[in-house]
Parts: sequence; structure tokens; C-alpha cells
Amino acid sequence: MVKIFIDPGHGGTDSGASGNGLLEKNLTLEIAQQISNILQSEYENIAIRMGRNGDSTVSLSERTDAANSWNADFYLSIHINAGGGTGFESYIYPGVGAPTSMYQEAIHEQIVKETGFNDRGMKSANFHVLRETKMPALLTENGFIDTTADVNRLKDSSFITRIARGHVKGLEKAFSLKRKAINTTIYRVQIGAFENKENADKLEAKASSEGFATAVLFRNNLYIVQIGAFSSRSNAEQLAAKAEEAGFTTFISIK
Ligand SMILES: [Zn+2]
Repeated sequence: MVKIFIDPGHGGTDSGASGNGLLEKNLTLEIAQQISNILQSEYENIAIRMGRNGDSTVSLSERTDAANSWNADFYLSIHINAGGGTGFESYIYPGVGAPTSMYQEAIHEQIVKETGFNDRGMKSANFHVLRETKMPALLTENGFIDTTADVNRLKDSSFITRIARGHVKGLEKAFSLKRKAINTTIYRVQIGAFENKENADKLEAKASSEGFATAVLFRNNLYIVQIGAFSSRSNAEQLAAKAEEAGFTTFISIK
């Protein structure tokens, strides 16, 4: 189990930097939540805690205390830059060395690659969240809120997703995270099962004449008349409802 503490910078009464109608605290929360969602839906053996979940005021000590008492394996702090400039930079605690410096390299590189951000370099600084955390910690500065070129990109939700993806790909490399196996569940919509093939053929012909795409399968000594197979349950249910309306008795088999 890899335990990752994700810290969306600022929040509540502390808006962080602002510019061009955007607040840093909103952007950091959006990026952090997307990172959390992607990690939980696509990766195995991962646990996540958030420094905050909504627009709440949480002090820096409260955040690092929470990560320390949870014994996180990694602390990831998300920020947006300000003060003039463009692009991406990341920070670790000065002189901290490996493995933190290796995590920084892996994550920094993937974010730059995924976003196409101007690379301002891998840096170090004596920030509270880097100093007071007992585990390796990284702080990312994802574009400048007061630079028009960066803001135009930050206003686009698909770009926020790319920033999140970059962090996730970096974490995958840094911690050798394992992707979940692709979901191979198939929902088959069936309208009859017969021992006698002729009966199956008759029903198939009837369904076919009413516009259904039919197939007869032979499974467990039964001829099964199928009108569709889907990876999505709701698509299967929609087709089943349509077949019921047309007078067929349906069942959905799941494999
Ligand atoms: Zn900040």
C-alpha cells in the first residue's frame, strides 16, 4: 500500500495568489481532487488523504501533522505561482537527497511532458510543508496566475486534467504504482435459452425481423439467443428495455 497525502495549497480565508479572476485555492483543490480521483480509479494498492476536501481553512501545521500521524509515504503539495513568469517549477527541502530528489525528478519530468509547460527547473526551498513532514515531500507550482498565457491555459478544464495526469504519471514512475486490470465485464442481453436449436433459430428470426442484431450462442448445452453485448451495464439495460417493449422476455448475463 502506498499512502499519498495530497495537499491542495491554501483554502478558506487564505485564497493564495489571485489574478485574472482566478483564485489559487480553487485551482489547487481542483487539481488535487483530480489527482485523487485518477489514482483511486486507475491504480491498485493506493491510499489517499487530502489536506482539505473543500474550501476550508487548514493551517500548515494541521496539514503536516495530519500527514505525519497518518505515516504517509509521500506528501504532495499543489500550488499555483505568482509574481511574474511562466511555466512550471517544483520544490523539495534543501539538501534532502534521495529518494526525495528521485521522486522530484520523476514527477517534475512527467508534469512538464504532459502539460508542455515552460520548465523553470527543479528547485529547493525551506517551506513549512517540506521541512515539517517526516516523509519525502514535493511542492509543485503549476503556472502563474498573474501571467496571461498561463492563465488562459489554467481556465481550460482539460488543461487542469493534464496537470493532474502529469502528477499521476510521475507518481506512477516514482512509486512503481500498478495500474488496475482493465475491466473486462461483459453484459449480454439475451431473450431466450433453448435445448432445441430450432426454437432458438425461430426466436432469432423473429427478433432479427424486428430490427435486433441477433446471434445464437451454444453454452452449457443451451442455445441462447443474444441481441447485444456491452461493457457498460446501462447500455445493456437500455437495449433490454427496448426488447421488452417489443414483447421479448429479456435477461442480462454477466461475465
Ligand atoms: Zn501557493
